Amino acid sequence: MEIEDVTKSIEIVNGEKLYLVDIEKSQVIDGVRIGGEDTFELLLKMKDFVKNHEGFSLALFRCKIGTTRWVWVACILYRINNMWQRVQIENIVCEYCGWNGKSTNPTVPSLYDTVKDRQNALNSAWNQPEVNCPICEKKLMRRAIWVQCDRSKSF
Ligand SMILES: [Zn+2]
Repeated sequence: MEIEDVTKSIEIVNGEKLYLVDIEKSQVIDGVRIGGEDTFELLLKMKDFVKNHEGFSLALFRCKIGTTRWVWVACILYRINNMWQRVQIENIVCEYCGWNGKSTNPTVPSLYDTVKDRQNALNSAWNQPEVNCPICEKKLMRRAIWVQCDRSKSF
């Protein structure tokens, strides 16, 4: 399997080349593995999330481990203000009304481990507009730029 076979588009995000992909089964792309067994399971979960929620995309980038080994690392991107923002999917509970659901947090430092200008990427992540609890509209305990608004699921 070659990266071109699964790539929908190539985007430069935080100065880094990301392949926006549609992954099926292959764990080896261009002769480079996608993480380990756990990682691939996580990747399938990420893929499901992206498929079921509008505005998200799954991306891969090549990352060097040690001096000779490469792996593909996956991340989730969210389209905001005409740009792609790296996000971490989190399960969040509102401490005021008890609402719980999925949210996306762009301010997790490990999202930018491979980015050259990490501080700049983190600063702009913190500048993304924050969203509040979808039910009581109070501030959430963790940073979120998107929350799941499917009322039927929580109520
Ligand atoms: Zn709430």
